[in-house]
Amino acid sequence: QLYHPDPNRVMTQYTGFRGTETRFYEDNSSEGVREFIYYRPTSGKSWSVIITVPSQYAQQQAINIAIPLLGMITLLAVAAIFIFRFGLIAITFSLKNLALEADRMSQGHLDTPLLSYGEDEVGQLRRAFEKMRASLKSRLDELNRLLVVSQGIASALEIEDSLKPVLEAALVTGASSARVYLLPSIVPSVENDNSPTNCYGAGSLEDEYAYLDEQVVALAEQQEVVKLTNITRPRIFSFAENAVRPQAIMAVALRHENQFYGTLWIAYDSPHQFTDEESRYIITLAGQAALAAANARLYLTSEFGRQRLETILTSTPDPVLVTDQNDNLILTNPAAQKVFKLRDEGIIGKNIADVVSQEELLVLLSSVDSHQEPRELSFQNGNTYLATASTIQSEGSRIGRVYVLRDVTSFKQLDALKSEFVSTVSHDLRSPLALIQGYTSMLKMVGELNDQQSSYLEKISSETEKISHLVKNLLDLGRIEAGVGLQLEKKPIQDVVHHVVSALQVQADQKRVQLDLEITQTSSKNVEADQALIEQAIYNLVENAIKYTDSGGEVKIIIRSEDENVIYAVQDNGIGISPADQQNLFEKFYRISSKGNQEERGSGLGLAIVKSIAERHGGDVHVESQLGVGSTFYLVIPMKQAKSETPPY
Ligand code: ADP
Repeated sequence: QLYHPDPNRVMTQYTGFRGTETRFYEDNSSEGVREFIYYRPTSGKSWSVIITVPSQYAQQQAINIAIPLLGMITLLAVAAIFIFRFGLIAITFSLKNLALEADRMSQGHLDTPLLSYGEDEVGQLRRAFEKMRASLKSRLDELNRLLVVSQGIASALEIEDSLKPVLEAALVTGASSARVYLLPSIVPSVENDNSPTNCYGAGSLEDEYAYLDEQVVALAEQQEVVKLTNITRPRIFSFAENAVRPQAIMAVALRHENQFYGTLWIAYDSPHQFTDEESRYIITLAGQAALAAANARLYLTSEFGRQRLETILTSTPDPVLVTDQNDNLILTNPAAQKVFKLRDEGIIGKNIADVVSQEELLVLLSSVDSHQEPRELSFQNGNTYLATASTIQSEGSRIGRVYVLRDVTSFKQLDALKSEFVSTVSHDLRSPLALIQGYTSMLKMVGELNDQQSSYLEKISSETEKISHLVKNLLDLGRIEAGVGLQLEKKPIQDVVHHVVSALQVQADQKRVQLDLEITQTSSKNVEADQALIEQAIYNLVENAIKYTDSGGEVKIIIRSEDENVIYAVQDNGIGISPADQQNLFEKFYRISSKGNQEERGSGLGLAIVKSIAERHGGDVHVESQLGVGSTFYLVIPMKQAKSETPPY
């Protein structure tokens, strides 16, 4: 060794590694001390450079350098933690704040704006939140306004009331006028002065801009949405001189079910750019306005219809009563109130049976048929009404009834006069007729007649026979209708029928029509009736059956009983009766003038007599018939007559 701090070790022998490459390594010295050894051979020389340092010194040196470094790092770390901590507190604070505000927004408190601090990310987030709050609030306000509008439309029936919220909502966009113009043809008009107007407006300048209504509606009819942002340029409108001119206009067509109703238009007194939101909002409002107009139109139309009906009902001279499904009165007209003396206002809602006392009307009331035969009602003052009841049906179920009464007093009086006249004339005809008949039969006795004279005489006697038959019929009918008391008698049902059959047998044989009587168990029962009248009724029916049945035909009389009634059915297979004739068959003097029965002569009174007899007994007569097949007449007579006869109306 050439150098060593310890002089004893100078010039000592190096015992470590020897080689041709440079090396740095750690090893133990001869004294057993750990050393770092750097070995570098020299090229072309026989010696090498070796530097040894005890490891302890090197480590001590490293420690000396590392300790201050460590101190500095620790200091820096502590400083970084502090900075980080306080920085984070600021960030978490503003994030927490933001979270609180977001929470408040989610609860619907959108009124307080979010103040923005700084340009950092949190600041940006706050700005985004603020934007979101503002747009949410404006959407919510818009929705609230639309809600008010639709509530207004739903709750108001008058067009003015339902359009008011629409117009007010339209003004929110800053417009100085909002108007709705409806085509005059859309608004139903009435005769009185209550016709609603067709233009409505709101806003400070709505009246000033009203003169443009027609021009705007013409534009809107061609184009669904019209937006004019600066009116000074386009020459679309013709402005009146000195008129206030709007600077911007938006007009939307009002349509409902493809029908053009008019327009909703808003106007600004300065140029205005319409944002997408605004346009969408006004179009929505226009939809609501169209709905309001359609609803109001529907209401007005039905209201006018109702008023018209009410006027008709009020002014009709015929009494009308309307009841609900429980027979409670829901409507009457003044005529009904007068006739039934219903002065009390509280009658509406009462049961009709408690309000009217006329028995015949109560019979109509209790019937379940939807259409009842009209019934005659007589009042103490001498007036007679024909009452009809019809059921009001809706979707298959009965919702009430309408009773209409027609004053037939004058007809009744006329009828009575006519009957009186006919009966007087018939009476007066009877004696001269009897005289004519008497003298005709005597003529043969007083002298010989030639053939021509005999034939003339026969014609005279056959014709007078017919006239006296007619007179007899007329007198019978007159008597029955006049209500001469019935001669009630109890007799077996078949008795009268046998009489009739034997009386008409010859006529049937002459015409070669078979006449049968079907005897049943009922036939031997007793019926209480005016036997002479019943016999006349059956006689008329059987005689008709023979008359209107061709030779070789058959006439059958069947007796049945049903409930408390006896039914005499007279059945033939003759010419039959058409449905139209069946309706009038029982009217006086009604004769069918068809080919088949032209040769049969008659007065047209036979069935009228049958009907009168049936009615006098509280019974009925009706027919079932088919042309070319035959007819069956049913005479229905109660087995027993009520104790006291009902006086005629
Ligand atoms: P008439 O005196 O004409 O027979 P009625 O009152 O008895 O008068 O009858 C009225 C009309 O009814 C007759 O003209 C006839 O056309 C028709 N008629 C009546 N009974 C029958 C019947 N059994 N078959 C067909 N038609 C009938």
